[in-house]
Amino acid sequence: MISKVSIPETDLFHVHTYRCQHADEVPDEDYVLKALQMGATGIWFTDHAPFPGDRFGNRMLYEELDGYIRSVMSLKEKYEDRIHIHLGLEIEYLPEYDRKGYYDELLNDDRFEVLMLGQHMAEDADNPEIHTFDWDKERLKNEEYKALMGALIEGICSGKFNVVAHPDRSFRRCKKWTDEMSNLSETLIDKAKEHNMPLEINMHSLEDKHHFWPEFWEIAKKKDSRIIIGLDAHSPEELEKRRSKSISITSRLLGPESIFNVSGSVITVKEDDTYIAKDVRTRVSSQGNTAEEALYNLRIALELYYEV
Ligand SMILES: [Zn+2]
Ligand SMILES: [Zn+2]
Repeated sequence: MISKVSIPETDLFHVHTYRCQHADEVPDEDYVLKALQMGATGIWFTDHAPFPGDRFGNRMLYEELDGYIRSVMSLKEKYEDRIHIHLGLEIEYLPEYDRKGYYDELLNDDRFEVLMLGQHMAEDADNPEIHTFDWDKERLKNEEYKALMGALIEGICSGKFNVVAHPDRSFRRCKKWTDEMSNLSETLIDKAKEHNMPLEINMHSLEDKHHFWPEFWEIAKKKDSRIIIGLDAHSPEELEKRRSKSISITSRLLGPESIFNVSGSVITVKEDDTYIAKDVRTRVSSQGNTAEEALYNLRIALELYYEV
């Protein structure tokens, strides 16, 4: 049964697998090996969930779900002394499948620790047979964000999920921030708080125009929301590449003097804007003018540490 989730910031969160049809064709174990190399305390697999009948693309087939669960569970066992491996899914809220009991079916499987609500498309309010990707360009431009935000809010209120993936990505077709977007965001942020669900700052969104909205995170920060960082990795390389970027974005959003954790390191921002990186296992620390620099220096310090 899904419950409140606690994801240490020293973990790597939001990882896909080859099954989703748009990730690297590599074994699941490659992600674990990369995470170990990076000194992460844990790794969370949240591949795109299938729906029975396989009506939608860009995700694993329903018949692959079992193999996905078995693969992650066997890695969990194999590496249990070295890293915490967690099983989850990223999935859209579609009322039709809620009525059919699909989410309950997933919730009843104890092996899942996280059901992440990630709305890449939504049901048409007037006809469950139609989804936003069936709409024409003009309608998508004008209405997609309302459908995605509406579905996210409904999904949050259903109580069947424990993390909200990339909420601000809903505005990907919007060109500039408006009062209406503010109002929708406030409602979503309030509901997520009511259900004690963390909101994900998605590192993939940062790479695409209009997928990441600082205005959204300003509201979340003001309302003291629970925020987590998701790497949304579709290859082992993206785990590493996006981790270092996540450091500077966290400090920019949450302000200097904030202490935040990235993989196996704790980063502290000092008042004079210098960064201290400390390794959680060895307590070795290093300084730098940017978080990346502090981490780079830490890596060198650790090499020396392990040499001795
Ligand atoms: Zn994906
Ligand atoms: Zn997603």
